[in-house]
Amino acid sequence: MLSKEMVNLGQVRSVIREMFEYGNKRAAEIGRENVFDFSLGNPSVPAPAIVDETIKKLIAEEDSVKLHGYTSAPGDMSIRNTVANWLNDTYGTTFSGNNIYFTTGAAAALTITFKAIAEKDDEIIVFAPFFPEYKVFIENSGANMKIVKCRESDLQIDFDALKAALNNNTKAVVINSPCNPSGVVFSEETIKELTNILKEAEAKFGHPIFLISDEPYRELVYDNIEVPFVPKYYDNTIVCYSFSKSLSLPGERIGYILISDKSFNPSLIFDAVAGAGRALGYVCASSLFQRVIPYCLGKTADIEVYKKNRDILCEALKENGFEIARPDGAFYLFVKALEKDANKFCENAKKFELLLVPSDSFGYEGYVRISYCVSTEQIINSLPAFKKLADGYKNGEF
Ligand code: PLP
Repeated sequence: MLSKEMVNLGQVRSVIREMFEYGNKRAAEIGRENVFDFSLGNPSVPAPAIVDETIKKLIAEEDSVKLHGYTSAPGDMSIRNTVANWLNDTYGTTFSGNNIYFTTGAAAALTITFKAIAEKDDEIIVFAPFFPEYKVFIENSGANMKIVKCRESDLQIDFDALKAALNNNTKAVVINSPCNPSGVVFSEETIKELTNILKEAEAKFGHPIFLISDEPYRELVYDNIEVPFVPKYYDNTIVCYSFSKSLSLPGERIGYILISDKSFNPSLIFDAVAGAGRALGYVCASSLFQRVIPYCLGKTADIEVYKKNRDILCEALKENGFEIARPDGAFYLFVKALEKDANKFCENAKKFELLLVPSDSFGYEGYVRISYCVSTEQIINSLPAFKKLADGYKNGEF
């Protein structure tokens, strides 16, 4: 009568959502200020002022029917050209509006991209730890997800494991740098090595292998760290970009797919993307927010707050003996649990009202994710609880 698969998907809440709901329950019982909820990746700083100013300006000045009407499915061509020109000025590339397809955020960009490329028996490689929705999106496209674990020493790519995973069925490899859940940024050296391996694999298997770069956190980097611009290193790149985090507007749903003009057949890939967008019923991305974007390119929300949170938390956690993967970007820390079983560790953390996400759903065991996109006050107030948790393990209480 119904799709069992979809019923199951709708009924099983993600671990992150479970923890968030638990946090709401505890907040009602003991007060929000006494619960240290680090579960969700919802930006905690407002959108830059230019966002609201532009919305007001557009509403005051533009024809309302046009402003709220459908745009063409890939988005308004003049705005796609503006985005392409901005990318060219920033990265020295040669894109045009024909390489850009506006989407309702990175989630839609990914589902459309997977649907556009997947054929029966195809494999799509993801690096663990990974954003848990990849599994849902890839399986929905009909492809199989293949997991390659990152090196435990620094959570960068394990190239030998990647080489072993590549085969004739490999259709794409997904990267996410800065990474959710680890905050790790792939260095230029890493991207060069990765793309060399993929070029060799393309030659060996005689077909293109896409590199899908999922980039909702591109601008969220600290200490002048550079995020390499992937299309410069690899021709068959598809970027799934989102403004959700950089402009702090995840509820507005705006992003784009960038198909490299150097890929083997950009216009055919664009057709497949347009077909997948159509088959999935996306129609077009928000007309209002497409029009906001040209005013906001290169702008970010106040990421200094995130940097401050990261620095305070990292220092305190390290002082208490926690091991943390180098967190150069996004707003997550991936911290080694103080016991093998991350779920048990999170249960113990709950005793101090610390809500952390166990790493199993990210495809990696023995860690927890801490989302530090919260108020700095919450970070500071939570430090004694982290100390008590660490002391509990030192004293053999758990
Ligand atoms: N990819 C990653 C790695 C994410 O962390 C998220 C959201 O948290 C998304 C994609 C989806 O982002 P969007 O809000 O743009 O759909």
